[in-house]
Amino acid sequence: MTAILVINSGSSSFKYQLIDVDTETELAGGLVERIGEKLGRARHTNVAAGGERQDTNLTIRDHTVGFAAMIAGFAEHGPQLTEIDLVAVGHRVVQGGAIFTGPTVITDTVLAQITELSALAPLHNPAHVQGIEAGRLNFPYVPHVAVFDTSFHLTMPAPAYTYAIDTALAAKHGIRRYGFHGSSHKYVSEAAAEFLGRPLAELKTIVLHLGNGASACAVDGGKSIDTSMGLTPLQGLVMGTRSGDIDPAVLFHLHRKAGYSIDQLDELLNKKSGMLGLTGNGDMRDVEVAALAGDAIAQAALDVYYHRIRGYVGNYMAQLGGLDVIVFTAGVGENSGVIRERALEGLEGLGIQVDHDRNYAFSRGARVISTDASRVTVLVIPTNEELEIARESRAVI
Ligand code: ADP
Repeated sequence: MTAILVINSGSSSFKYQLIDVDTETELAGGLVERIGEKLGRARHTNVAAGGERQDTNLTIRDHTVGFAAMIAGFAEHGPQLTEIDLVAVGHRVVQGGAIFTGPTVITDTVLAQITELSALAPLHNPAHVQGIEAGRLNFPYVPHVAVFDTSFHLTMPAPAYTYAIDTALAAKHGIRRYGFHGSSHKYVSEAAAEFLGRPLAELKTIVLHLGNGASACAVDGGKSIDTSMGLTPLQGLVMGTRSGDIDPAVLFHLHRKAGYSIDQLDELLNKKSGMLGLTGNGDMRDVEVAALAGDAIAQAALDVYYHRIRGYVGNYMAQLGGLDVIVFTAGVGENSGVIRERALEGLEGLGIQVDHDRNYAFSRGARVISTDASRVTVLVIPTNEELEIARESRAVI
């Protein structure tokens, strides 16, 4: 059996999946968390054997110890790594700057470049580096591949990625739109073409990746031509705890009038805004339940959320010069019928018509939720970033 181990490393935890590259199925997966705390936890599921999730509590000093805990999970609960032809370890990396146009085999030079890009992604890249270093120590004889969230968006034309500020200053500090969720947007836009049985090259698609983090992407013939996240994953749609688009002058105002420091502003916009800021709760399920029960604050917050999505749909229809498909994906997009329906409400004049019954019919798979008369086909397609990372890792080894 030939497999790729996919690692998504954060600063105090990492998720992993072992994927059979021929059948493209998950063999095992897990989560190692609370790294560096007094008591950590390793969760492992032998998916191939239909096993239950196995939890082990132990002290996990650093990522290297975390990898050892993951390997122990495989040894104890299977599948046995010794019986598998592990051909690569694929690492998710959030920020690849303008350097990494695609998946890249990790060398010392590449690792140094990923480290350097930490200035543009201080919350993410240092954690990825820890994961990569631990991975290389534990799996020294296997190629390690970095798959970047940003690569898919490097096809954006200059007018889409350029901020209207001093050109020399922007160039000096790498300030431009990079966009994120690239593996998801790529996977979902390709899956949409496959699902519809139409050539990717002729499709104009808008992907709405609505999770805790959320972003929209305009995909023309398989290529990203615009996306809502920017220099960092803060720009664009309203998210669980992030504000998305905001007038930058709000920051000057809060600094001058309310004494907010740069760090406080950073925390405010990244951690205390979005649905959390508007309602006091950043979890969309709770906001949805409250709104359905008649809570006016939750309803008003969702109206902001919908208004922003609709704005991007209209914007991207114009940038694409037409539209064939809208795809909903990620936690909210895949699971919330109410949010899908309300977000696209009033767009019938643009040829977008959601079918109520299709939209609410329960399913976990890819499906059409628009009416037969709708000029634009609206789909729900579950994203699979881990599989995309495995595919891309395989392509470069
Ligand atoms: P991320 O990967 O960005 O952490 P996910 O794609 O897992 O996020 O999405 C998480 C979000 O999806 C949470 O806000 C959660 O409340 C929301 N979500 C999950 N199921 C539902 C549902 N049935 N209705 C509304 N929101 C949901």
